[in-house]
Amino acid sequence: MFDNDSMDTIAAQIKQADSVYIFIHENMDGDALGSGAALCSYLRRMGKTAFVIRDGEVPQNLAFMDRDYCRTSGQVPVEHDMSIAVDCSEKTRFPHNIELFDKAGNSACVDHHLAPAPLANFNYVDPDAAASAELIFKLFKAMGPEPDKEEAEALFAGITTDTGNFQYSNTTKETHEIAAQLYDYGIDANHVSVEIYETVPFRKLNLSGMALDRAEIYADGKIAMTVVTQDMLAKAGAIMNDSEGIVSELRSIAGVEVAILVKESDDGRVFVSLRSKTEANVQKIAAKFGGGGHVKAAGCTVSGKSWQEVYEDFKNAAAEEIQ
Ligand code: 5GP
Ligand code: MN
Repeated sequence: MFDNDSMDTIAAQIKQADSVYIFIHENMDGDALGSGAALCSYLRRMGKTAFVIRDGEVPQNLAFMDRDYCRTSGQVPVEHDMSIAVDCSEKTRFPHNIELFDKAGNSACVDHHLAPAPLANFNYVDPDAAASAELIFKLFKAMGPEPDKEEAEALFAGITTDTGNFQYSNTTKETHEIAAQLYDYGIDANHVSVEIYETVPFRKLNLSGMALDRAEIYADGKIAMTVVTQDMLAKAGAIMNDSEGIVSELRSIAGVEVAILVKESDDGRVFVSLRSKTEANVQKIAAKFGGGGHVKAAGCTVSGKSWQEVYEDFKNAAAEEIQ
């Protein structure tokens, strides 16, 4: 990893900008939107022009955080002072918005993914942070003003989703300490949980049922794999974002060490989600195919191959990894 700039440096850079665009990754999750929305709201309260530039739709269960912050790159003026990448360390994670990102005179990146190289002029990347939302909280401390209730709830949303509701091994004492501090800003944690976890469209459960029905277990029960195809989406009346959560279900199976979900996109690309339970390093598997992420949660985007080919590639690579 490269050397980070200090959060104070990044705070000082942001303070100088009048207009700030916040870039989050495609297939956004609770941490990407939670971190982005919290920062956008905070910067607007400081009198700045701020937007979250989204690459793809806002999922229904996260929509409560988007209080008119999200825009596509075509919906905002090109000119802006600063671009900030949040929850992603590679520009290819927001493929449709790279040009707009590069139009700013200054840039920063605040993220918790292992990164091969700095993305921006100023970078704070901490792979030990459970969620980017933890780092945005630190950024707020460096900037000065306290977050309001909605901003604190968006940060809580980021933390609860990226830690599997405080279950995963990325959860630390500091994660809990930051979550505890968010209560001082008046968060209603149950409200956030109901929005995120109990606002599930029925079609999502149908899709999950179909995917689990065709799941396969390999390598003496250590690898669980399944696929979500365009055909399955059509049958369930679902969208690809509804596949979120299936890979965690696979990992929860007794004896499974590596869980893999292959997703056939409608544009020729194939997305892969990987999870490991204890020892295996799925970041390594993803990196073999140009992807990345974390040791226990990684992902990859493959172009130019059918989902069946990608499925075989990952099945073999996972078998090698757990040898
Ligand atoms: P998910 O499976 O939830 O989409 O992603 C799991 C982890 O892998 C996340 O940390 C995510 O940022 C990362 N990830 C997912 N897809 C990609 C990808 O195409 N490229 C890279 N470098 N990381 C990815
Ligand atoms: Mn994250």
